[in-house]
Amino acid sequence: MKAILLGPPGGGKGTQAKKLVKKYGIPQISTGEIFRNAVKAGTEMGLKAKQYMDRGDLVPDDVVVGIVEERLREDDCREGFLLDGFPRTIPQADALAVMLEKTGRKIDHVISLEVEREELIKRLSGRRVCRNCGEEFHVMFKRPKVDMVCDLCGGEVYQRKDDNEESVKNRLVEYEKQTAPLIDYYAGRSLLRSVQGVGGFDEVFERILKSLGE
Ligand code: ADP
Ligand code: ZN
Repeated sequence: MKAILLGPPGGGKGTQAKKLVKKYGIPQISTGEIFRNAVKAGTEMGLKAKQYMDRGDLVPDDVVVGIVEERLREDDCREGFLLDGFPRTIPQADALAVMLEKTGRKIDHVISLEVEREELIKRLSGRRVCRNCGEEFHVMFKRPKVDMVCDLCGGEVYQRKDDNEESVKNRLVEYEKQTAPLIDYYAGRSLLRSVQGVGGFDEVFERILKSLGE
């Protein structure tokens, strides 16, 4: 399966992506995670991306496209992959179509998670993440058993720098402006599978599977 997971920041892409790749045995390609790892490692690309990410701005298309193209060339992507957080702009979507065409591939499904704005702000502002394994927590809905310690791996649970109020607002504005137009873009290509993103993690996952015809 070659699929894209589309949705607003805080829409639950990361959580659902992890469930999907486990079920289908395909790699998850999360551009957000790639950038956060690059920042952690202090690479040149990381330093460049960080300025944009902290403010809640999008990293420039050419940077993102180059990274994804390189990743999709790797062997484990041959049979399938799940793109999580890419494409996020129309030029990125066009670039993706071109790079897949070169290797005779194309996208099968675009899963679009739908969550309303109020809910997104609530989720993002209380979100906490494990620095080590990426597991997500929430100060109200899902607290770690031990304060600031990951239940799964014992890593440090922290607040992402772009989850502050200012950056959250900006990310939502950028989403509406740059990413939401992709919904029509993929609907027009008969690839869109719209899914209600509100409810329990398993409930949403079941809806996704159903939308894929499972
Ligand atoms: P969220 O979906 O919660 O905003 P992500 O982890 O997907 O978070 O992305 C975090 C940040 O990484 C984005 O706000 C943006 O700065 C950068 N980023 C990730 N993917 C892309 C992309 N496809 N294009 C541009 N910037 C991106
Ligand atoms: Zn962890």
